[in-house]
Amino acid sequence: MRCDVCGRAEREHRLIRYNFSQGDRLVVVDHVPAEVCPNCGEVSLRPDVVERLQDTVWQRRTPVRLIETPIYEFSL
Ligand SMILES: [Zn+2]
Repeated sequence: MRCDVCGRAEREHRLIRYNFSQGDRLVVVDHVPAEVCPNCGEVSLRPDVVERLQDTVWQRRTPVRLIETPIYEFSL
């Protein structure tokens, strides 16, 4: 499907690392199927994939592994 943001390329099927924050927790889900625009990088997820992502977090399944994440304050 053609990218609806830049309109310049066909989106490609890729497995991505998806991350989002939940309160003070950063949650990372690996190998999420997505459509990615090779031109502008716009990522789109199918509705059923979004639903699976939400289930994964709401069910608080045991994570595959834990990583340490540095946090910085932005400064000019
Ligand atoms: Zn694009």
